[in-house]
Amino acid sequence: MRAARTGDTFWSVGVRTIIEPFRIKAVEPLALTTRAQREQYLREAGYNLFNLSSSAVTIDLLTDSGTAAMSAAQWSAALSGDESYAGSASYARFERAVKDIFGFAEVIPTHQGRAAERILFGVLCREGHVVPNNTHFDTTRANVEASNAQAIDCVIAEGRDPARYHPFKGNMDLVQLDGLIEKHPEQIPLVLLTITNNSGGGQPVSMENIREVSRRCREHGIPLILDACRFAENAWFIREREHGYAERDLVEIAREMFSYADGCTMSAKKDGLANIGGFIALNDSVVAREARNVLIMTEGFPTYGGLAGRDLDAIAVGLHEALDPDYLRYRITSTRYLGERISREGVPIVQPPGGHAIYIDARGFVEHLSPADLPGQSLACELYLEGGIRSCEIGTVMFGSGLPGDDDFEPAENDLVRLAIPRRVYTQSHIDYVVEVILSVYEKRYQLRPYRFVSAPPVLRHFTACFDPL
Ligand SMILES: *Cc1c(COP(=O)(O)O)cnc(C)c1O
Repeated sequence: MRAARTGDTFWSVGVRTIIEPFRIKAVEPLALTTRAQREQYLREAGYNLFNLSSSAVTIDLLTDSGTAAMSAAQWSAALSGDESYAGSASYARFERAVKDIFGFAEVIPTHQGRAAERILFGVLCREGHVVPNNTHFDTTRANVEASNAQAIDCVIAEGRDPARYHPFKGNMDLVQLDGLIEKHPEQIPLVLLTITNNSGGGQPVSMENIREVSRRCREHGIPLILDACRFAENAWFIREREHGYAERDLVEIAREMFSYADGCTMSAKKDGLANIGGFIALNDSVVAREARNVLIMTEGFPTYGGLAGRDLDAIAVGLHEALDPDYLRYRITSTRYLGERISREGVPIVQPPGGHAIYIDARGFVEHLSPADLPGQSLACELYLEGGIRSCEIGTVMFGSGLPGDDDFEPAENDLVRLAIPRRVYTQSHIDYVVEVILSVYEKRYQLRPYRFVSAPPVLRHFTACFDPL
């Protein structure tokens, strides 16, 4: 039943309780641990939550990537997967779904989003190039920089300030973009636009902003590539918040967003509702041919791109499920529920709540710690110790440069802790538990300790660095 579009479901008749628009068919036990166990696990993990075994985690909000619960329809599709090396029927179904929603002529599967980034930037970017984006996601920045190009974030000023409200806080700052285009007329191989803006708080980009960025790109012959991981959530926000879209179908909104772009990179682990997968979609057949040559060398033949046929089928079904209005209403409402419950009690969060995650402003939460004390790391560790909740620091550990105490140390612009909500996985009582744990840590926030690095690799250091509390 997909009655939401006609406006006659329980959602619109005054019932306020959020219910999950699905029932649960397969369950997995949660790990319940004692505080003493968690202290030991965290110590053994070098105080890096990425090093914890999932069996030590009760509620896992580390990421919304690849953690979705697949639907019965996806599992049945997966069983029909065609595992042929070349010309698989699964690829045909995958390509049809991608073309139907995204509308690009060329579809290139990859094993996940970062492979799409590496291949596309490898083809388009070189030393001396400058790549603007609203905010580069960590792997996106790393892959731009690995091609020796420079990654520049151009999100609007509101998007840099956690407390400020703006309905489309992920928008690109058009003045800054104009300035970059003017300053580097021949050196911009592509403009990226991340929908929704993950590192900036899961904030949406308006249709108007996409259109304006597109107009500038077309004027200067620069391809516009959408980082489309959360395209469905972005489409929902456009329908909710942008004038003229309230009555529009979500698939139509998605198609309009992509009509302004020349291609996209996609992680199907997000709004593909799949556990693995991604793709590049493009209109330019010359770039697509070059990308496929790299693909064959590093990922796989163009009709599977490093995925199994069953994964392609799961994605083909998932892309459409992600645009189901009942699902999206539940998704966005339940994320907001978590944000509103904790912010009502004084916990500073990035406002307004984003689509896939709530971001706690750790500098505001632990005011007695400076950025060099790694307040985000401190808070993330404490949430784990208090209630077995695994979150993710998005701050000085992830985006700072140099080590605190060294001359070249620079903290990140913000120190955030992201509570990413896996799709269709947790119920409201799980989220109520998370609220209680956060509020309990908030009450004793002045006891939170500074953290320091014990070791750190040169790139993407948040994945493998080790820490010590002081
Ligand atoms: C997850 C993500 C990526 C990378 O995708 P993976 O599938 O994790 O490799 C790129 N950009 C954004 C905005 C993302 O959220």
